[in-house]
Amino acid sequence: MELYNLKDDSQIVNFETAVRTGLGNKQGLFFPQKFSPIEDQATLLNLETKERNKVILSKIIGKDLSSSTLEKIIDATFRFPAKLAQVTNNEYCLELFHGPTLAFKDFGANFMANCLQSFSNDQPITILTATSGDTGAAVAHAFHRLPNIRVVILFPHGKISELQQKMFTTLGDNIHTVAIEGDFDACQALVKQSFDDLAFVKNVGLNSANSINISRLLAQVCYYFDAFVQLPEEQRKKVVVCVPSGNFGNLCAGIIAKTLGLPIKRFIAATNLNDTVPRFLASGEWTPKQTIATISNAMDVSNPNNWPRIQYLIDSGQFDSRNLTGCAVDERQTEKSMHLLQAADYLSEPHAAVAYHGLHQSLKPDETGIFLGTAHPAKFKSTVDQVLDIDIKLPEPLAKCAQLTDLSVKMPADFERLKDYILEACEES
Ligand SMILES: *Cc1c(COP(=O)(O)O)cnc(C)c1O
Repeated sequence: MELYNLKDDSQIVNFETAVRTGLGNKQGLFFPQKFSPIEDQATLLNLETKERNKVILSKIIGKDLSSSTLEKIIDATFRFPAKLAQVTNNEYCLELFHGPTLAFKDFGANFMANCLQSFSNDQPITILTATSGDTGAAVAHAFHRLPNIRVVILFPHGKISELQQKMFTTLGDNIHTVAIEGDFDACQALVKQSFDDLAFVKNVGLNSANSINISRLLAQVCYYFDAFVQLPEEQRKKVVVCVPSGNFGNLCAGIIAKTLGLPIKRFIAATNLNDTVPRFLASGEWTPKQTIATISNAMDVSNPNNWPRIQYLIDSGQFDSRNLTGCAVDERQTEKSMHLLQAADYLSEPHAAVAYHGLHQSLKPDETGIFLGTAHPAKFKSTVDQVLDIDIKLPEPLAKCAQLTDLSVKMPADFERLKDYILEACEES
């Protein structure tokens, strides 16, 4: 597999380098020049999930992973299902929250962790990442107890919910968690400073588990096929998929699935009030605004970092932009959508509700709609309880970690202190 730097096409790397380095020169994203369709879709769709994922991923990755390594990675990644739940006659939710941290990010984080593990060659790797919530949990669980890899997660002290925090601070072993006295930006600045210290990067084998890593997208391509397969035959003709979007990795994966031949008719990109992309699709102008806090907070992104990949698929003629529309959903509409789902006897949370709104208002009677359920409702318990006037029970993984001890250490936002801490953690393991 050859990956080009979208900002500098003289930089071409293989899959391993793209996964190890994350970003290219000039902060450019790595991406293949062309995806070739998988010819026999009928046979592909008839395969059992892991077999199908292997065909899809080996088509994309090619010889960069041996057949047996890819098989091992797939076995270790797809240990939980993507379930299609019927909501109304022609509307379905693709539930992507049956993994260990109850969010779709488990798919990408697990696949990336297992790819990196297979590349480590017994050289220790240190993953350093900043989180404001969901990503930290998915990364921590994905890398927990993987040999030769240690993980350091920075989060803003006192700024995330206790339950969210406990999903990654209670694991221990190779997962080190640091509460930084500052906000999320201060955490990100420390990560950036660490990567600017090249001697340090080399010394500890520093790597970020950032969402722009190509490996995170590839695992996500597979579940679009999974969704399609779970539809009754007679509803597969005009399938519309609505994706609740923040950084636009998930939508990008869906569009890749279509370029590989999956017969999805069109996509809807649903955002909350952070609506840079819907405005761009309507006007052709890219004008990010100040980020606004919403109840679908995992999508509070005003300058989505995966958009250049989608733009490339459009510009290179691999995806027809007429098959993509945007929909910006405000807070009142999000709540109304949660109520509408509740009335259909389907319990949902704000992110999926944003997508349901986008789908429901544009779906034609002869189309079949799928919206993506990116998180378990209990993950956003306080909002869901309040909006729907209910008291959701915590599912087992959440209830379990709420009982455990928080192992994080507190630290001022000081690079030298962080560096000492990481070096010490490296000596231990
Ligand atoms: C990360 C996240 C999103 C946004 O996904 P992108 O791939 O960044 O567009 C949506 N919902 C939830 C619950 C998330 O955690």
